[in-house]
Amino acid sequence: MENKLMIYNTLTRKKELFEPLNAPNVGLYVCGPTVYGDAHLGHARPAITFDVLFRYLQTLGYKVRYVRNITDVGHLEHDADEGEDKIAKKARLEQLEPMEVVQHYTLRYHKAMEALNVLPPSIEPHASGHIIEQIQLVKEILDNGFAYESEGSVYFDVAKYDKAHNYGILSGRNLDDVLNTTRELDGQNEKRNPADFALWKCAQPEHIMRWPSPWSDGFPGWHCECTAMGRKYLGEQFDIHGGGMDLIFPHHECEIAQGVAAMGHPVVKYWMHNNMITINGQKMGKSYNNFINLSEFFTGSHPLLEQPYSPMTIRFFILQAHYRSTVDFGNEALQAAEKGLQRLMDAWNTLGSIVAGDETSVDVASLRSRCHDAMNDDMNTAQVISHLFDASRAINQIADKKATISAADLSELKETFRLFAFDILGLKEELGSNSGREKAFGKVVDMLLEQRQAAKAAKDWATSDKIRNELQALGFEIKDGKDGATWKLKG
Ligand code: ZN
Repeated sequence: MENKLMIYNTLTRKKELFEPLNAPNVGLYVCGPTVYGDAHLGHARPAITFDVLFRYLQTLGYKVRYVRNITDVGHLEHDADEGEDKIAKKARLEQLEPMEVVQHYTLRYHKAMEALNVLPPSIEPHASGHIIEQIQLVKEILDNGFAYESEGSVYFDVAKYDKAHNYGILSGRNLDDVLNTTRELDGQNEKRNPADFALWKCAQPEHIMRWPSPWSDGFPGWHCECTAMGRKYLGEQFDIHGGGMDLIFPHHECEIAQGVAAMGHPVVKYWMHNNMITINGQKMGKSYNNFINLSEFFTGSHPLLEQPYSPMTIRFFILQAHYRSTVDFGNEALQAAEKGLQRLMDAWNTLGSIVAGDETSVDVASLRSRCHDAMNDDMNTAQVISHLFDASRAINQIADKKATISAADLSELKETFRLFAFDILGLKEELGSNSGREKAFGKVVDMLLEQRQAAKAAKDWATSDKIRNELQALGFEIKDGKDGATWKLKG
């Protein structure tokens, strides 16, 4: 396999040729959701970004083991080690078992991911199912002298680690920066240094999610789960670790430190991060009241939305930007994406009815290599989409008899379009549950137009006009051509 894939490594801050540690096997780990609420737009972007990477690596011939975890313990309200556990809080408020909360929102997350055509990962481990592995990790870090026990909790000794290994290599922060931005919170008197983070937390009596450990009944620190589960399923060294840019600090920085402190060497070769999503130019956040759940996009039931947006519109919109650029969601941009996607799907359907000629007068031969070049350039999906739009224009020219295509080029064009639009970008034609109904509906309109054609042939102008006028009144656009009439619903 010819390998030209360049990916931007957050760790080295440059694009690097992707060279797996153990080709053709590739280990990919992506931080998954904390399942205490409905999946929202912030979940869609990393899921779609790394789904495209997963798909592309497989098209290149790699055997990918993709691990995306479910965080169901240890993610506290203030991220690292302060505040109530997010799952436990939801369980307390709703008077449920924490695992009822986890089950409910995991199923909701899966449903949203399926709608977005995000492939399931190879393994989806739960943090709560890997407490033993996390305790083992904490023991190793303690044994190696990079952690200390305090009041039943165990903290990572950032200052000591920094002397030996340089803390902050991923985020570019140094220890002083971290100290300057660390807030003084309750419980920090247990720490030697405010920059230290929890590996194990002793549970307060009212804390419901707790497990026995050598140090106390408690629960693991949030950062431990990915280090422990990544090692369990992908080994002590693996290729790619991904997630949203918001995870670079502290989560991924702490993961790097934990890995080196426990195993003595870096674990991950390439760190990849997708940029953030804004809504109407604003950061997403509870205080802005703009946390739009994916199900609200699909039904249009959020006050900020003018209409429903289908899962494929959301997916297409996200892929129209490079994953390292920001994306701003607004009604206008989403409506443009909806139209763009429709144009691509229309071109795909037109492609099915094109008849090959003797020669090719459009430039479609280079489509495959141009799309590959774009994907190989750090997954430039925006560029791939623009190449597919070029192809769509060519398809329409051929359909309008303004250009021709040979049989060989036609089959290459179909193959390339299918590969990039459907297999790699993961788009799909959206008829969903309405599929049968919509098709039947279309056939009824075709039938009426045939009746009209027959009436015209019989010079029954009254019937012919009546059918046309009534269809127009219902919102259909009727276009008469020399091969009969065509219709579409007015946009
Ligand atoms: Zn993680």
